[in-house]
Amino acid sequence: MHEPPGQPPTASERPTRIAVDLDRIAHNLHAIRAHVGVPVMGIVKANAYGHGLVPVARHLQAQGVEQLGVAFVEEGIALRRAGITTPVLVMGGIFGRQVAQFIAHDLEITVSSLDKLRQVEGAAESLGRKAVVHLKVDTGMERIGVHSYSARAFIEAAVASRWCVLKGIYSHLACADDPDSPMTDQQVARFADACAHIERIGAPMPLRHLANSGGVLHFPATWLDMVRPGIALYGVLPDPASRATVDVRPALSLSSRVVYFKVVKAGNPVSYGATWAPSADTRVVTVPIGYGDGFPRSLSSRGEVLVRGRRYPIVGRICMDQFMVDIGHDSAWNEDEVVLIGEQDGQVIGAEDVARRAGTIPYEILVGLNDRIPREYRGGTAPTADAAAG
Ligand SMILES: *Cc1c(COP(=O)(O)O)cnc(C)c1O
Repeated sequence: MHEPPGQPPTASERPTRIAVDLDRIAHNLHAIRAHVGVPVMGIVKANAYGHGLVPVARHLQAQGVEQLGVAFVEEGIALRRAGITTPVLVMGGIFGRQVAQFIAHDLEITVSSLDKLRQVEGAAESLGRKAVVHLKVDTGMERIGVHSYSARAFIEAAVASRWCVLKGIYSHLACADDPDSPMTDQQVARFADACAHIERIGAPMPLRHLANSGGVLHFPATWLDMVRPGIALYGVLPDPASRATVDVRPALSLSSRVVYFKVVKAGNPVSYGATWAPSADTRVVTVPIGYGDGFPRSLSSRGEVLVRGRRYPIVGRICMDQFMVDIGHDSAWNEDEVVLIGEQDGQVIGAEDVARRAGTIPYEILVGLNDRIPREYRGGTAPTADAAAG
């Protein structure tokens, strides 16, 4: 019945894919840099927010990003193994036994307590190599870092350290996604207090950095000496309250293809749990992607997709590997493109829309897309899919 005209795809090719437009990421980097007028630390943790750690980092490096940031030491090591030479800060908390790994791979360390400073010094001394560190001050997130109001001894010890090179001092913003939150001004003031102590003791000021994407978008007082955008670099706004003050554009799209067509008769439920049934006979197509790929099950009977430039609802529960879409009286062919995130014939579904329908934030949607989905790169220095896997 509904077989398409034209060539069938290669049998081995999964029809589901993530396409990453590297030119968009470059555009976003340059737009952010022009907006803030200071160097940028491109945040590439969590597989570069699902866009692919190594290809994105390599492209950012080619675009002259001043610094890269990741969460865990393993992510930093993966960058070094891929030949990335740009300075890399690991932003997460450390364990003493990891310090040798940081030093061996030339990764910058987040020092978040006096105790951890001592551990870094000890390891650096025994290796006979200095460690490059950024001090983490807590100005209101209550995550890692020394409270700004008790950071003096910590700062003094870091300044006096023989085995630590004090490259930076930073803090993290809790509420910058919302331009109207008063929390950010308070955090800026607390951070300034901590930095003032460095000045007071006559030490050279290290790089001060504070702004995540929300800070970049909404709070010029947070820009300081460097900014640390993650999600905005990928062209996605952090929160529904965020304002698009910088012209950033989404770099990722997620698509699949129709793999099955059927008519479902009125009253016959679709998928596990029989949670949805059409009230009249309708046409239903099956799409071969599911929560096993990281496409959230919470989009069951809530999400939408694009087929032939039109928006249709996901019906019934999303399965591990497939879900169904109600196309009403319209027609669709096997192998027709289905867009889950991205653009088709002028219609757009943003990661922000998907997140809203799934009851979460766009971060979780993007980083959730896992390695079962092949990634394709366009633009830029376009590494091949094989290089991307490395
Ligand atoms: C993840 C992270 C960022 C980037 O946050 P976005 O909201 O994605 O811009 C910046 N700084 C730190 C410490 C982070 O953990």
